Amino acid sequence: MELVKTPADFRAACEAARQQGKTVGLVPTMGALHAGHTSLIDGAHAAGATFVAVTIFVNPLQFAEGEDLNKYPRPLEADLAQCKAHGADLVFAPDDPGVMYPKGFGTEVKVTTVSKPLEGEYRPSHFGGVTTVVTKLFNLAGPCIALFGRKDYQQWRIIDRLVTDLDMPIDVRGMPIVREPDGLALSSRNVYLSAEERKRALALSHGLGRARDAWQDGERDVQRLQAMAREPIEAAFDQIDYVAAVDPDTFAPPEEAPTRLVLLGAAQLGRTRVIDNVELS
Ligand code: AMP
Repeated sequence: MELVKTPADFRAACEAARQQGKTVGLVPTMGALHAGHTSLIDGAHAAGATFVAVTIFVNPLQFAEGEDLNKYPRPLEADLAQCKAHGADLVFAPDDPGVMYPKGFGTEVKVTTVSKPLEGEYRPSHFGGVTTVVTKLFNLAGPCIALFGRKDYQQWRIIDRLVTDLDMPIDVRGMPIVREPDGLALSSRNVYLSAEERKRALALSHGLGRARDAWQDGERDVQRLQAMAREPIEAAFDQIDYVAAVDPDTFAPPEEAPTRLVLLGAAQLGRTRVIDNVELS
């Protein structure tokens, strides 16, 4: 497995792989890798990628003032070991944000529709930072299969929109959420939770699961589904940002008798924000 640190080396390695007839698979991450991330590496192989590149970059553009940019975990050696164990061919891990955003950098790439509601309301600058860095990574990697987790469901829909709208030669795949045995969605930020908060955090997947069970039993009333999910979350969390069912493609409020929905939740435990979602179809 090769480790590269500069955009030029990353581009050259992907280009060389394509010239050898390989299919590039791209797994963008911020590191602190867990089984959710490695499932994307495995997914890239399964999707037919024969040259799998993982990027590890804690992207300052997607953090707002007061968020956890400085304390975000950065265990690079352990991350590299996991990439290797899952058969990644290359890791692109810039040492310094200045490598991605040199002096004079002045461009933002923004999806103006799907970015607006929910996460977009609570973290107004976040998705612009994500779509800007992902555009750079796509431009460096070139035509590829790019894998994203449905854990960050809105992010996945936004990136799909970006690729469609700007005719990018990228095959975007949204991969299933990997969970702890008790149901908590894996997240690099779970390390911030105390043992007590970790127990309370479970109410999020539990609440969403309640609504999923009701949906499976035929419940189609959106208000009731949302209320059902909200109840245990409200009891356990310090603050709810949102528990909302929306159209899975547009993120618009659902129609009368929806056939497909995604129910998303975001809530705070102390200083830690936990997100999760469930697809109802
Ligand atoms: P991050 O390092 O948090 O930026 O995440 C990198 C990629 O891993 C994103 O596409 C995430 O959606 C995905 N990811 C994070 N956690 C999970 C999980 N529990 N299951 C599946 N994918 C995940």
